Amino acid sequence: MQRRGDDPRVMTSEPALRVIMRRLREIMSEPGDGQARLDKIVKQIAGVMVTEVCSIYLKRQDGSLELFASEGLNPKAVHTTRMKRGEGLVGRCAELNITVNEPEASTHPAFSYRPETGEEIYHSLLAVPIGRSGQVLGVLVVQNRAQKEYSDEDVEVLQATAMVVAEHLVSGAVAGAGTAIELEKSLSAVIQGEQMAEGIALGHIVLHEPRIVVTHLMAEDPAEELLRLDAAVASLRASLDEMFDHEHLSGAGEHRDVLEAYRMFAHDKGWERRLREAVEGGLTAEAAVERVQNSTRARMLRQNDPYWRERQRDLDDLSDRLLRILAGRVTSADEPSALPPDTILVARTMGPAELLDYDRKRLRGLIVEDGSGQSHVAIVAKALGIAAVGQATGVVERVNAGDAAIVDAMTGEVHLRPSTDVIAAYSDKVRFLARRQRQYRALKDVPAVTIDGVKVDLHINAGLLVDMPHLKDSGADGVGLFRTELLFMLSNTLPKVERQADSYRAIVARADGKPVVFRTLDIGGDKVLHYLRQPKEENPAMGWRAVRMGLDRPALLRTQVRALLRAAAGQELRVMIPMVSMAAEMDAVRALVEKERSIMRSKGHEAPEKVLVGAMIEVPCLLFELDALMKKVDFVSVGSNDLMQFMYAADRTNARVGSRYDSLSPAPLRALKALVKAAEKYKVPLTLCGEMAGRPIEALALIALGFRSLSMAPASIGPVKTMILALHAGRAAKLVEELLKKGTTNIRERLDSFAESEGIEF
Ligand code: PEP
Ligand code: MG
Repeated sequence: MQRRGDDPRVMTSEPALRVIMRRLREIMSEPGDGQARLDKIVKQIAGVMVTEVCSIYLKRQDGSLELFASEGLNPKAVHTTRMKRGEGLVGRCAELNITVNEPEASTHPAFSYRPETGEEIYHSLLAVPIGRSGQVLGVLVVQNRAQKEYSDEDVEVLQATAMVVAEHLVSGAVAGAGTAIELEKSLSAVIQGEQMAEGIALGHIVLHEPRIVVTHLMAEDPAEELLRLDAAVASLRASLDEMFDHEHLSGAGEHRDVLEAYRMFAHDKGWERRLREAVEGGLTAEAAVERVQNSTRARMLRQNDPYWRERQRDLDDLSDRLLRILAGRVTSADEPSALPPDTILVARTMGPAELLDYDRKRLRGLIVEDGSGQSHVAIVAKALGIAAVGQATGVVERVNAGDAAIVDAMTGEVHLRPSTDVIAAYSDKVRFLARRQRQYRALKDVPAVTIDGVKVDLHINAGLLVDMPHLKDSGADGVGLFRTELLFMLSNTLPKVERQADSYRAIVARADGKPVVFRTLDIGGDKVLHYLRQPKEENPAMGWRAVRMGLDRPALLRTQVRALLRAAAGQELRVMIPMVSMAAEMDAVRALVEKERSIMRSKGHEAPEKVLVGAMIEVPCLLFELDALMKKVDFVSVGSNDLMQFMYAADRTNARVGSRYDSLSPAPLRALKALVKAAEKYKVPLTLCGEMAGRPIEALALIALGFRSLSMAPASIGPVKTMILALHAGRAAKLVEELLKKGTTNIRERLDSFAESEGIEF
């Protein structure tokens, strides 16, 4: 080891250690908060030990290690990079309470690559535990670019330094590490996340089982080890088959696609080969699982694509499961009684099969730190009817097993250790929602007719097979918008015509004679299919998406149309085209549909009895071409989400501008009125299927404008129907007409007071 500025020949570890001690004392006596002190400490150690990197990782409640300070690694990684318990070389150091001295860290089987740190340029790594009274509080790490083994002196200095750091941590001189967490964990807290699966759940926290720590790396007998690995893989596959055939999941549904993809992953020959090669190379079966997981993860993380992130979760889930089998651990599904009857599961991340390990009857809610509504675990949670919230940042650190918690997936809130008042309020809310739901269910078979006799058709929006039971439950008249792209987004490859036809057939069958409007693929822009080559675009919402892609790549649209025609054999088929910008585009679409129909007939396949082709009105330009458009379509449907964003030039996904302009304003309402008139003139059925339709006050305005058909999320049918049953459409129409004539700007307020005066409750 060298000390900067000193003559290496007269160096011993003593002076270096003394220098470090002195500087640490100085740092502690200077003003500054805990973080500032940690930052100075790592800088000093790196300087004195002449290392390019010095980092401090501190242990969090769940045993994970968080990068708290670093000299040399990317500053953005501080407080972002977390190693799961036992993960990577740093995790091993903490878990086993050992010093790790690796000249070439990245080739070590336990190495865990974290691209955000920028550490790939550093080869050697020395990590020592920061411990006190036999407890590991964290890990102190130094790294160098050169490939070298650190000397015994280096190790001694770093160990002694770690002891001093531990003292300061324990004394509270560096706050934010231990004591703050303890305090925080006794208080009530609310974490704002995002809905993954709807519902409200009250219960008690169970922390998702932490990962198995691999301690034994090199195998004594590779042949024997190979047998262990083979047996474990076989057992893994058998347990997955058994789990997926479980009664709750055996029904058809889009969750089955997710689970099938997962099962295919478990049967993947490449994965098995890599595992075997690692064992043949001398590793234990456990170390091989970890090695293959880490190297695959490194490859997947380089692809900045949600599909690969989801696959990575599947792989993590599978690897953890295989490690548990190798360790002879039973899963919680084998021990259901270990779970409280009102379990709220908390996990940093979770794969679909991990959720299925838990006893469904005891699960009420799920909270994950990184999940989204589109993640695979969310789809399974929906299928099982579990309230789930994702993006609950920091939840794992802030809970203890057994804590009371409330998952409010309606608002995305998670209440930790709620007060009795909050519990009482939520119990009321759950009862109220149940009562409301009962009222809505009671209206299921009541037609949506206003008090002055105007009938309004109510349809649901859907995108997955699991949505279809809502058609019956809500008593809706049909599916007004089936977003087919979701089926494509969940598939690993572009679904071939027969597979698509099977999916559409299943939807038609579930609709049980009620009409379904299939929207052709609205892919492109931000909805990416990883198996389709799509150029990166500056303005994806206005880019190469939907029908633009369909017409430029006719094979894609043709396959979908062919599948839809086959699925609707002998019945009526309704096809709707998204993002139409010019009436003439409908000619091209119709020509394509007609060609497919004639091919079908010439091949002797049974064709649909009738094919209706409609256009979505989402691009404002089309509003000025209505006469031409109406002659070319069998129906039109307003995609108000897109129409509003393009009319106001306000990105619907950008929170800053997305809700800046009110759709209940004169300009958009006049546009919609013109549309109603054109549809009446040409006798073209008109509907609206954007989010507007599902909000009662907006639905009221639409009915006043003349809309007689609306399509919305299934949960909105009850509230909108309740409004319709209390509405006098004639009086509402008169009011809206007056407001538009005057150009009144506070239309929403005026409609609210109208509703109140008419006794309409929302
Ligand atoms: C719309 O734009 O209103 C619509 C229904 O389509 P999507 O939300 O799928 O873009
Ligand atoms: Mg749209």
